[in-house]
Amino acid sequence: MNASLEENYHSIQKQIALSAEKAGRDAREVKLLAVSKKMEPERIRVVWQLGHRLFGENRVQEAKVKIPEMPVGGEWHFIGGLQSNKAKDAVECFDVIESVDRWDLAQELQKRLEATGRRMRIMLEVNVGGEAAKHGCSPERVGELFQKVMSLSRLEVIGLMAIPPFREDPEMARPFFVKLREIRDRLQDSHGVPLPELSMGMSHDYPVAISEGSTLVRIGSALFGPRGV
Ligand SMILES: *Cc1c(COP(=O)(O)O)cnc(C)c1O
Repeated sequence: MNASLEENYHSIQKQIALSAEKAGRDAREVKLLAVSKKMEPERIRVVWQLGHRLFGENRVQEAKVKIPEMPVGGEWHFIGGLQSNKAKDAVECFDVIESVDRWDLAQELQKRLEATGRRMRIMLEVNVGGEAAKHGCSPERVGELFQKVMSLSRLEVIGLMAIPPFREDPEMARPFFVKLREIRDRLQDSHGVPLPELSMGMSHDYPVAISEGSTLVRIGSALFGPRGV
């Protein structure tokens, strides 16, 4: 099982490099976020031992238990829906929160960060498919959210994150990746600040996301295998 985990890791890295090359991009611009949700620390440690340090989790409760069991020195991203009442724990556990999608949450994070004296890198999550069941700020309102969040001294917005509607055919996700990139470009232009990160692409569609400018692909099942239910 661990042998296949190692194989998966190397073949994903190879695919990332290949997709970047095809798009005329430098492969070093694309980072792999190993999405370790629901995975036991032993499995995560296998990936750690390959030299990997960048991990993603989507539940604060789970991460609170798991992250302390891992060696220090990793970079942990929160990628799930975040309730404001979990902001304190999220700030304690994570290095980057990718799923900031509303003003009250941003304010709560600011407050918790002030209490700890820290700053934090965040991304704004955009609901690019306009799906009612999904988290994320609507594309129409992300400019306003960005404007307001820039006033919060403890938060540094480094980019945007999106989870497009799921379709069997990964090509169907392409317009949504384009949309996120265009929103990012517009925000950069109108505010005159860099937003280098585009967190987009998952196990089944990351080559497409890379061809549209992704800098961070969030990969769970293609690396660790199925999560079950
Ligand atoms: C679970 C999850 C992923 C990884 O999904 P896979 O299809 O297993 O690669 C990526 N992003 C988010 C936000 C997730 O919750």
